[in-house]
Amino acid sequence: MEGIIGLNKSDCKNCYKCIRNCPVKSIAYRDEQIQILGDECIYCGNCLLVCPQNAKYINSDLPKVKKAIEAGEKLYVSLAPSYIAAFPQTGILKMSAALKQLGFTHVEETAIGAEQVTREYEKLIRKHKMQNIITSACPSINLLIEKNYPLLTSQLAPVVTPVIAHARMIKQIYGVRAKVVFIGPCISKKYECLDPVNGNLLFSALTFDELQNWFQEENVDFSQEDQNSRAMANTLPRYYPAPGGIIKNLNRKERAAYECLSVDGVDRCIEVLDSIQRDKLSGYFLELNACAGGCLGGPILRSMNISFLLSKNVLVRNVKRVNEAPPALTEGVSLQFMRKHRSRTVKRKSIDEKKIREILASTGKTSPEKELNCGCCGYNTCREKAIAVLQGKANINMCIPYMRDLAESMSNTVVENTPTGILMINSQLNIEQYNPAAAKLLNLSEEAVGRPVSSVLSSKDFEKVLNSGKNILNHKQAYHSLGLVLEQTVVLVRNAQTLFVLLKDITQEEKMLEKHRKVTEETAAFAKEVVNKQMRIVQEITNLLGETTCETKVALLQLTKNIVSEKDAENVHKD
Ligand code: SF4
Ligand code: SF4
Ligand code: SF4
Repeated sequence: MEGIIGLNKSDCKNCYKCIRNCPVKSIAYRDEQIQILGDECIYCGNCLLVCPQNAKYINSDLPKVKKAIEAGEKLYVSLAPSYIAAFPQTGILKMSAALKQLGFTHVEETAIGAEQVTREYEKLIRKHKMQNIITSACPSINLLIEKNYPLLTSQLAPVVTPVIAHARMIKQIYGVRAKVVFIGPCISKKYECLDPVNGNLLFSALTFDELQNWFQEENVDFSQEDQNSRAMANTLPRYYPAPGGIIKNLNRKERAAYECLSVDGVDRCIEVLDSIQRDKLSGYFLELNACAGGCLGGPILRSMNISFLLSKNVLVRNVKRVNEAPPALTEGVSLQFMRKHRSRTVKRKSIDEKKIREILASTGKTSPEKELNCGCCGYNTCREKAIAVLQGKANINMCIPYMRDLAESMSNTVVENTPTGILMINSQLNIEQYNPAAAKLLNLSEEAVGRPVSSVLSSKDFEKVLNSGKNILNHKQAYHSLGLVLEQTVVLVRNAQTLFVLLKDITQEEKMLEKHRKVTEETAAFAKEVVNKQMRIVQEITNLLGETTCETKVALLQLTKNIVSEKDAENVHKD
């Protein structure tokens, strides 16, 4: 059943607001992700409405319905009586014409089924066998009781919902192959389509907003009225969507056998159910609606921003519209409308107190006074959240105060112990805060807070950042009066108009660099001197070599000459 409500994971910002607003806490936070637990959800729609990111959506049955129409299937509409709130300028004749333009075969009001449901409630009142009679018209209330109050299922009227009653009547009159499409303000009707208890009675459920979009897409003409339309002889069941609407439909005399009470809004319904269970109340006929304002306050009408007051007004007017058209063939068809309710509780392993205390202690809640019960994690109390952790639905890190304390103590440790000086400067360039390293570096006393930063540092960089909005990173700045060379990083914390300043003392590095520079210069000068000397020696050697070579050349030439002369003389003698 998880598929009814979907989640756009990338849109979810893990704010836990949906968990906070889920009346049965059927939303888990696992693997850093929200997840609806289908076997615990009662499809009240709260989580969709409260999500500030609109990360959740209802999976639409529209493609399925359109496909069936295209395939030539005969689709019969069971139209929730609250349609008049979503489409106030219409009535059953206009809605019938509009829906037929979309391809539906026949249109009737679900209120026809509601009338038969009322008759079943009256029978139960007459029998007077039940301790209390809790109405079963709201599928979310049925799920709430079946999943969370198994002991109260015997007090839930064993009667089908109006739409199931109506679907049975449609199939009785138009044949078992008739496909019934419910259109209404409710998400839990989508669940009714899928609930195996209902077999294939419902083909699908559409919501009013889906229908509105479809009407717009097809440019449906609302000026027409369906002359073949069917209405209702008894229009009183059109009150069903308003709180107290069921009680209004009961026979006045007969209903006096029980104390009749209408309760709407899931939290108040839970209070009432708790009270029945705890205080063993009896003698009540309880009309329970999960939505505040009944179906008129259903999640879809709320998401369409339709005001309850206007809805109630148009609904009352619609009840008063009589003899609009001949009554539907289904009206008054009496069938079997009873059903059994069964427990659908989720089996959970038992959790002992020791484990709960261990989880509480792991987030610093070592005594009841330390349990803040702030609700930030999505759970009403620290204890509830600890139990959810043990059930695998929540995670220890969801405790925001604990995580904040942890982050604060970590950052405090870093700030207090870092050798980097840290200053916070306001937009008037006065010192707001500083850490011990900054105090030591700049000789700041306690009175430094509130003093102009220019009394200790050059304010040039700070003014530049404030005026330009551009941060300055690692700017080297010498402060001769302090005997310091600092590397300054100035960051603008935009919203707060505060400057966050990091001061790294690089005086020693600078001194070392200076020393290194001097050594390098001296070495270079010395090397130059040596080279020059060497060059001079080379030159001298070259000169010497040059002279010697010349003399040698002259001597050798002379020697050669002499040898040649001697040879010539010898040859003359031989001749
Ligand atoms: S409300 Fe739920 S789904 Fe929406 S952003 Fe917050 S945690 Fe995510
Ligand atoms: S639909 Fe209702 S019950 Fe289901 S998860 Fe959302 S808030 Fe909870
Ligand atoms: S203190 Fe933590 S665990 Fe307790 S309710 Fe607040 S956020 Fe949840």
